[in-house]
Amino acid sequence: MLKLIIQITLLWMFMTSVQANARFETFLPEQETSVVVKVEYVADTQYQHTIESIRSDKHSDTWQPVLEDYANFGYQPHPYWYRFTISNPSDKPANHMLEISYPLLDEVDLYRIHSDGAMDHVKTGDRLPYSQRVVEHPHFLFPVALNPGERNEFYLRVMTKGSQLVPLNLWQPVPLFVQLSDEDQLHAVYFGIVIVIVFFNLLIFLALREKLYFYYSASALLFMLFFAIMRAKLFPYIFPNTPEFHHFLLLILPASCLLFAALFTREFLNIPHYSKKLAQLINLIIGIALTCLAGVFLLDNQTSLEFSVLCAIPGTFALLLMGPIIAILGNPMAWVYTIAWGIFMFGATVTAMSKHGFLPVSFMTEYGMQIGSALEVFILNAALAFRFYREHEEKLVAQEARLQAHSERRDAELRLLQASMTDPVTMMPNRTSFEQAIHEILEKREGRRIAVCAIEIVRFAEISKTLGHQNTDLLMCEVAKHFNRLVADVPGIIPLQGVTGQFNLCALESGAFGFMLDADIGEANTDRINEIIRALATPIDFKEMRIELQPVTGVAVCPEHGLNASTLLRHAQVAADTSEARERYLSYYRPEQDQYNARRLMMISELKDAINEGDLELYFQPKLDLKAQKITGVEALVRWHHSRYGLVRPDDFIAIAEQTGVIRSLTRWVIKEACAAQTKLAREGLDLVMAINLSAINLREPDLYDFLRNTLNDFHLDPARIYLELTETSMMQDPLEAIATLSRIRSLGVGIAIDDFGTGYSSLAYLQDMPANEIKIDKSLVAAMNIHDQGMAVLQKTIDMCHELSFRVVAEGVENGSMLNALIDLDCDLVQGYLLTPPLPYERLLDWLAEESVSSRFAS
Ligand code: C2E
Ligand code: CA
Ligand code: CA
Repeated sequence: MLKLIIQITLLWMFMTSVQANARFETFLPEQETSVVVKVEYVADTQYQHTIESIRSDKHSDTWQPVLEDYANFGYQPHPYWYRFTISNPSDKPANHMLEISYPLLDEVDLYRIHSDGAMDHVKTGDRLPYSQRVVEHPHFLFPVALNPGERNEFYLRVMTKGSQLVPLNLWQPVPLFVQLSDEDQLHAVYFGIVIVIVFFNLLIFLALREKLYFYYSASALLFMLFFAIMRAKLFPYIFPNTPEFHHFLLLILPASCLLFAALFTREFLNIPHYSKKLAQLINLIIGIALTCLAGVFLLDNQTSLEFSVLCAIPGTFALLLMGPIIAILGNPMAWVYTIAWGIFMFGATVTAMSKHGFLPVSFMTEYGMQIGSALEVFILNAALAFRFYREHEEKLVAQEARLQAHSERRDAELRLLQASMTDPVTMMPNRTSFEQAIHEILEKREGRRIAVCAIEIVRFAEISKTLGHQNTDLLMCEVAKHFNRLVADVPGIIPLQGVTGQFNLCALESGAFGFMLDADIGEANTDRINEIIRALATPIDFKEMRIELQPVTGVAVCPEHGLNASTLLRHAQVAADTSEARERYLSYYRPEQDQYNARRLMMISELKDAINEGDLELYFQPKLDLKAQKITGVEALVRWHHSRYGLVRPDDFIAIAEQTGVIRSLTRWVIKEACAAQTKLAREGLDLVMAINLSAINLREPDLYDFLRNTLNDFHLDPARIYLELTETSMMQDPLEAIATLSRIRSLGVGIAIDDFGTGYSSLAYLQDMPANEIKIDKSLVAAMNIHDQGMAVLQKTIDMCHELSFRVVAEGVENGSMLNALIDLDCDLVQGYLLTPPLPYERLLDWLAEESVSSRFAS
């Protein structure tokens, strides 16, 4: 059975045209191109015969006729002897050609017995160098010249390790060579196609380094080589005198074909992706193919060839079957693979079947395998080309995506760069941009004096606490536009080029702006500049609120105050950050101002010690009750006696205390001192309500309530004698929490006052929920009534509204009698201010209170 399979396989590769003929005497009629030579045979199983022994009579009964058209005994280790007669019945000399069209016979010995009894011997076979052949052709060709009427007997000994297949034909020489050359041309076309495709795919492999293309090239090339070897087509061209080479190729090719077909299949169908089991199977096939290849070197030729062919047949069928399975599992390319492999296998099967008489011989059956192979190579190549195209497309798309990403990145970088030069809130040039602009202007100022101006919104922190970030940002946009318009009229203004256009102003940071001008032009037009500075200070309308920004401007001039951009800008900001700027809205830089900054820094470290070392003192400012016409309370205001700077006012250190956390101990110190003072005053017979200022940060101290309760207990104080003042702004930072905390504190019995009312932007809804008893109208609002009628109207409304919400109203910063009278008219409850007295130390307060006329002095 094994031998049969192997024989069939090798027969696939072989083609012959056959025609029936009778008897063992063959003659070639003139009108025929060829006839089959009918033969008798003897199987020399004992390896005993020589030409002499086979010719002797005693063996005549052992000759057997070959009933088929040609002798085919499959794999046989021993030699076969064939006997036939060729005659020339015509009256002309005949020049014929005897052909054995199976090229893979190892040893072929042809003996011709001439009519005169003489004997010729021609030795050939594919184990001999090609050059020894009588006619140089892969097939074994023997010229046979016969005289008219001559009749010669022939003996043929064939010994081969391959198939004992001996198709013998007698030919007219010309048609034979025409036939052989046609056949060669067909093969040349086939080989040509395959070679081109192999090179094409090799190039792709070299370009892409994708092994799929290499496997494909290799398997196409190996199949082609296999056909070529089977037909000895390479023999005449490659190492014609080294038949061993061709035999070696014959041994390794079946396994190599299987190996690369399997590798290609695995890669092309992407089998591991679709099925683990099939991946295992294909790896097994690859393993088997490799074993077969190893067998070539380990086993004897015959066994190794048999083993290879045995494995190759089921192997190739398994590869074919994987196509539809993988296709069903979802890889549409597998259909193409199935069709291509299917055509090849179909062609091979057709050829094999015709060889064994199951199909009538035709062009299709003769060339089925080559046609199948060529089509297979074509289709797979088309599939690879399609795949290549698709991958190329994908690469293009990927490249496009990369380019896109690249340009997006560049866009982003540009935007980032723009952003780095632009203030995010106002979209104006920012500090960096401004410094750069200053730098550029300074470079080409040529003796001109350049003023760098910084506008600071003094109340920015407060505003942002009250409005929240979003509203503050919106407000700042409005402010920026507004200021930009106003500053445009500054004589000598130097505009700036921003990313989004030209500006007169830049945004330095939140609530701070900058601009620059030609200082000489500016100084020649001070009136106009003052006008603009005043215009900047007018409150701005925002969301139906009128917001006072309190902008101040600091100025630093090049060359007097600095020669480079950053110094000038810093000095301008130092100048803006002074009390002078706050009072006059405008301040020129002076070197002393910097010391002020240094002082602030110093104070941060000293403040803590100041509390412990008794450098703080409480001053007290009285409150006059307008209805009762007497002093009913005092406000405790802290002072710091600094060893170097003298008396430091809270505006200069409360913010620092808040920022550094010292506010906690500071407030507690004040509460204790105030309680102590209250107790002392009570002992003096002065029943005064003590007002204590709390910071927003104190509200968040969880133990504040306990501290207050304990302190009140310690001093045996009536809690109603204590008021806690909290600014409107600090209450509104987190209104709900403030309500909760203050409600708890108020439950102790202490009073709560909303301080600096009118500077923040409280929501009335929350205000009415605040557990407060008193509202202190800020001195700016009180002062406004002196400036214009509108101020009076605002004050009137505020007091009325506070009364409606049943708050007691205190007016702060009352500095003169007309203010006092106006406030009495407006039905204000209490007043506080320099009109009465500035804050006083405890002893002086006692003196002030002791003056008999105090209350009557202010009674209208
Ligand atoms: P405040 O609570 O609004 O205190 C009133 C401030 O206005 C005091 O300034 C006072 O001297 C000043 N003042 C009083 N009458 C007049 C007047 O007729 N005209 C003008 N222009 N000003 C007047 P001071 O003492 O410098 O306090 C400033 C701020 O410091 C206080 O404002 C308060 O918010 C804070 N502060 C003072 N002491 C403490 C304290 O012990 N704890 C906390 N947390 N803050 C305090
Ligand atoms: Ca206060
Ligand atoms: Ca106040």
